Amino acid sequence: MLSGPGGVGKGTIAAALVAADPTLWLSRSWTTRVRRPGEPEAAYVFATELEFRKQAADGGFVEWAEIAGNLYGTPQPDPPAGFDVLLEIDVQGAAQVRESRPEALCIFVEAPSPEEQESRLRGRGDPESHIAKRLALADSERILAYELNAIHVVNDALEETVAAIASLIDEARQERSGNDGFVSPI
Ligand code: 5GP
Repeated sequence: MLSGPGGVGKGTIAAALVAADPTLWLSRSWTTRVRRPGEPEAAYVFATELEFRKQAADGGFVEWAEIAGNLYGTPQPDPPAGFDVLLEIDVQGAAQVRESRPEALCIFVEAPSPEEQESRLRGRGDPESHIAKRLALADSERILAYELNAIHVVNDALEETVAAIASLIDEARQERSGNDGFVSPI
């Protein structure tokens, strides 16, 4: 699981990990958030709140959470055989997954500084109210990540961050035994 506050570059890191590793399968989340200008249609399953809540009530999510006023959820994963599932989710979701998958690798990505996080959030064109909410959440997210024993990685230089996370994934693969395809790394 790749977790971390908004604006730390999780999406870019996840895309780079999947591009470099043909056996990593990136889960596509559902969200009730509206699509950002220029955001690919495939970035999420964009759903209404009614559709989302029905999916949740039907047990269709491994975890789901409300973040800055929108709902986000991970559908039950269905990777091809031999693939490991990568989740890019917030830390509340990571805590839920940890309950059912205690062995899951949990990586918490941080921005080099709060100023850098703010400028990255601003750079993607989110409304000011949303930026303020995400910044306010960062501290509590970091605390929850420590409670989860997540491995903290500072995303200073993208290539180095991706390489560091790829080696954590390799280590987790070497350590695990009895994989059911969703054990780790996710
Ligand atoms: P954004 O709206 O910027 O795309 O995402 C906001 C936050 O939602 C990010 O921290 C992202 O990691 C998180 N997120 C995306 N998908 C999921 C999901 O399925 N479950 C949870 N819990 N968080 C998610």
